[in-house]
Amino acid sequence: MEEKRIIVSMNKLRPLPLDRLTQKFIDKFWNRVNKTNTCWLWQGTISIAKGYAIISFVGTVWYASRFAYYFRHRVDPYPLLTLHTCDNRICVNPTHLFLGTEGDNTNDMVNKGRAKGPDKGTKPSNTILDEYLVSHIKWYLSQGYQQRPLAKFFGVSQTCITDLNRGKTWKGIVARDPKI
Ligand SMILES: [Zn+2]
Repeated sequence: MEEKRIIVSMNKLRPLPLDRLTQKFIDKFWNRVNKTNTCWLWQGTISIAKGYAIISFVGTVWYASRFAYYFRHRVDPYPLLTLHTCDNRICVNPTHLFLGTEGDNTNDMVNKGRAKGPDKGTKPSNTILDEYLVSHIKWYLSQGYQQRPLAKFFGVSQTCITDLNRGKTWKGIVARDPKI
């Protein structure tokens, strides 16, 4: 089998500015949420293009769902997307959010009938891992990221991630935060 190396693009999304978080911002965030029995509806700004809940903070516009995910799980979704199980783009209920990739989002949309046509979002799934990528994967695992979205993001099998997590492979490699 011919293997292909993919370049992991991290330009599209940014890590949350966690070191800049203030109680004032956190209060501002939750003041914009209307918690119903199911979805927690965003009362703040909605993006014009796609209708997602957004909030500005430290000079940048963010998807509100990313903060909601962080506030509950203490994990920055970066570099993954926060996707909705409820299909409601203004929902910030963390129990309706899961981490995934662009490919997951496209598949999800196709399954739910929001998009038609071939899945162009899926990345090739035959990355050759090296120490550099492995150190990042180990870091995401140490932060509580789930194995399935990680496998998809890095373009490897879930078994590959499981083996790595159990120390069956790449034993000597130390976890390293990709943002540093
Ligand atoms: Zn919801």
